[in-house]
Order: sequence, then C-alpha cells, then structure tokens
Amino acid sequence: MDNRTPLVGLSTAQLREWARDTLSEPAYRGAQLSEWIYRKAATDFEQMTNLPATLRARLHNLAVVTPNAISHMQRSKDGTVKCLLRLADGNEVECVLLPYEERVSACLSTQVGCAMGCRFCATAQGGYTRNLDAGEIVDQLLHLQRLSERRISHVVLMGMGEPLLNLEQVVQALRLMHAELEISYRRITVSTVGIVPKIYALAQYNLPITLAISLHAPDDETRARIMPVNRKWGVETLIQAARDYFETTKRRVTFEYLLLREVNDTTGHAERLAQRLQGTPCLVNLIPFNYVPTPDGFQRPETERVRRFRQVLEAAGIETTQRVERGHDIAAACGQLRGNHRGKPIPLAAQSR
Ligand code: SAH
Repeated sequence: MDNRTPLVGLSTAQLREWARDTLSEPAYRGAQLSEWIYRKAATDFEQMTNLPATLRARLHNLAVVTPNAISHMQRSKDGTVKCLLRLADGNEVECVLLPYEERVSACLSTQVGCAMGCRFCATAQGGYTRNLDAGEIVDQLLHLQRLSERRISHVVLMGMGEPLLNLEQVVQALRLMHAELEISYRRITVSTVGIVPKIYALAQYNLPITLAISLHAPDDETRARIMPVNRKWGVETLIQAARDYFETTKRRVTFEYLLLREVNDTTGHAERLAQRLQGTPCLVNLIPFNYVPTPDGFQRPETERVRRFRQVLEAAGIETTQRVERGHDIAAACGQLRGNHRGKPIPLAAQSR
C-alpha cells in the first residue's frame, strides 16, 4: 500500500503549513507546490524545477500529487473527451471534458455511484458506494485540464452522484476551484435531484454559483414515477425552495427538464409546468433523454415533440434553453462509460497526451 500523502485537495494555506510542519521547509515552498499542482497541472515533482533537487527527492518519498489515474478515455469527433478516473481504493468515476467554441466545460462526479434511484439514469443502476472527497472532485478537473489545449472555464457537477448529499466536500471543492484554479463561481453549476433541506443549507453559503434542479415533471404523480426522491419532497415544496433560494442568494435557479417520450413530454405537461413556474425566477433547460437501456424502456422524444414542448413554455413567458448534446458518436453519455468498461484492462496508450 502506498502511504505517501496525496497533495491534491490541499489549499495553498494548507500546503504552506505542510511544507513548514512536515518538510521543515520555509512556507513559500508550499506556495510553489500549489502553483505547480493547480496552475500548471503538474503531477511529477521532477517537473517542479524551481524546487531544489534534494527537496524533490524528499517529496517523492513522502508525497504524491495525485493517487488517482485515468484508466480509460474516449474522444468524440466533436472534441468531447469522456474519462474514467480510477481512485486510490480502486473505485472508478466518470468525468467529461466538453470543449465549445467560446468556453471549455468540465463535467465532474461527486460520489462513487448514487443512491437516488432515478429510473432513467445509468449511474442509479449501479447503486451507491461512497462520497468523494474535495481532492477527488478537484482532481478530475486537473486530469481533464491536461487533456485540453485551452483552459477549462466552466464546471458542472452533473457527473455521477448527488452533490447535495456530499455538501461539505462539494463546497470545499468549489472553494478550491475558485481560489486555486481561478474558476469564477458564476461559471460553476451544481445540479441536484432536489434534496430540499440541503438546498436551504447551500443557500446559506451564499456562493454566486448556479443551482440547477432536476425537476423533470410538473406534478407529483409523474415525478414520483421517474424519481423516487419525490416521495420525500414533492414538486410544490421543491419550487418553493427554488424561490427561497433566489430570495437568499439573488441567483435564479435553472430547472432541468429531461424529456422522456410519452412520459412527461406532452403539451399538457408543458402547460402544467408553465403554470407552476409562473412567478418563480428561473430558467428551464430541456434535455432530451440520452438513451440508456432501463427496466422501464424509456425512449427519447422526436425532435418535433421537443420543439412543441419548448414552444408552449416560451409562449407562457418561461425562458427556455435546450442542452447542446455532445459525444453521441462515442456512445458514452450519462454513466454509460463506467458501465461499459468497469473491470476491463486499461488501454494505457490512450493516456499518452
Ligand atoms: N444528482 C444530480 C446530478 C447528476 S445527474 C441531479 O440529479 O441533478 C445530472 C443530470 O443528468 C440530471 O438532471 C439528471 O436527471 C440527468 N440525467 C440522468 N440520466 C440521464 C439520461 N439518460 N439522459 C439525459 N439526462 C440524464
């Protein structure tokens, strides 16, 4: 077992302390480490040329930048790169690099697996294993940064897991991204299945991030059918939480709305949704179902149905966007990568960049 200290996840202040207390070096050595780890995304102490060779050798014996490694990756024609990150304990999580013309986004996981059991979700089918710590969340970003020619500018916590059930570590990760990686809070989105008390807890941190709520239905009956969490907190409670979140933070929420053919995508659903959201400061983001095989056999709606759904919302004055979908050709959307590759040998050639 490797018992060297992992440094990723420590803030500059913590690295300064570590340099002083553990290395018996001046604190500024910690600041230099931070610069290499976060700004330059270095993984090897030998790269850290402004540290003396003797110190680099000591570091090598005492610490590692990261104990985690990319075990598999797939590149799409559109530039999307989906990665599996193998953690120190052998567990694996997904993260995705999404280069767009005007920005580069990273989609990160917050838990190994997920306990929420949403009927349409590939991650749910594998169940829940454990929370990630802040270092493991930020480390996904650093691994993706090494694969990107341009600087990552945006982060979405829409990978595996429910961020609000891991709130402390998630907030710590957001602070590291903000302070160490200079990613503005305004460019970070945290997506939740709708854990109402945790929405209030998050509001208390008052970070200018975007909160996205996976609503996916306008009424309890439809929502409970696809999202078991709705039995605990219903649609009305959730929309009220979104209003209160706005009152506290002055940041309007995004309601995500996953469209499943004939389950929640009729004009009737759109009309009821528009009605319920009247007066709530929000934006609706439509997401046509990314096909994954499910016990319910959910299907993706035709483009025309999506267009009609959107029209109803817009006619009612609800601001609506539609998710730009990426990486279809690598057939690895929403949790499919881990499902396809868990336990298979590692194609290391893919890691050479
Ligand atoms: N647990 C959080 C964040 C992770 S899921 C949440 O539920 O919001 C991120 C988003 O992807 C959620 O809106 C989720 O409902 C959606 N999603 C899950 N499976 C999907 C699929 N097969 N196709 C499209 N979106 C999916």
